[in-house]
Amino acid sequence: MRVVLLGPPGAGKGTQAQIIAGKLGVPAVSTGDIFRANVSGQTELGQKAKTYMDAGDLVPDEITVAMVRDRLAESDATGGFLLDGFPRTIAQAEQLRESLADLGHGLDRVLELVVDEDELVRRLSGRRMLVDGQMVQRDDDKPETVRHRLQVYREQTAPLSGFYEAEGLLSRIDAIGEVEEVTARAVDALGSVDGDEPSAG
Ligand code: ADP
Repeated sequence: MRVVLLGPPGAGKGTQAQIIAGKLGVPAVSTGDIFRANVSGQTELGQKAKTYMDAGDLVPDEITVAMVRDRLAESDATGGFLLDGFPRTIAQAEQLRESLADLGHGLDRVLELVVDEDELVRRLSGRRMLVDGQMVQRDDDKPETVRHRLQVYREQTAPLSGFYEAEGLLSRIDAIGEVEEVTARAVDALGSVDGDEPSAG
């Protein structure tokens, strides 16, 4: 299955991506994780991406699209994947559609995790990650940067919801609740066919 997970920072995309990809037996491909790995590895890609990431801005499309194209060409992703954090602009979505079409493929479903903005700010300001055995705050989870990232999401990424809805690919998932509840809703949506919304309950 080829799935995109869409949703604002703090919606729980990373957590759900790992669990859902495991259930589907496909790799979870997170552009944020790939960028962060390149920043800590001090690669050329990491050096290019870092300034944008620290400011809470998007890394330019051409850098991001080339990186994702390379990743999706790796053997573990040829049979399917779950994308987390990509696409994030309409241009990225169009390029993804083209690269998949070149291979004779298309997306099977786009899941949008929906969480209201007050809850997002609460979650992001309390979020910590494990680095070298220590719980630290991501540089871009600082309050000013969080507000900026949410604004970038509203302006550049939120329009993807309508883009994929028009293609009949979108399922909106209520992402408030226990992790397992949200996973169950997502799995339910993946099971539904013909672009139908999953039935309630
Ligand atoms: P979050 O979803 O919590 O904002 P991510 O880990 O997905 O965080 O992304 C962190 C940062 O990496 C983004 O703020 C952005 O700078 C960069 N990034 C990740 N994915 C993309 C993308 N598809 N296009 C451009 N920049 C991206």
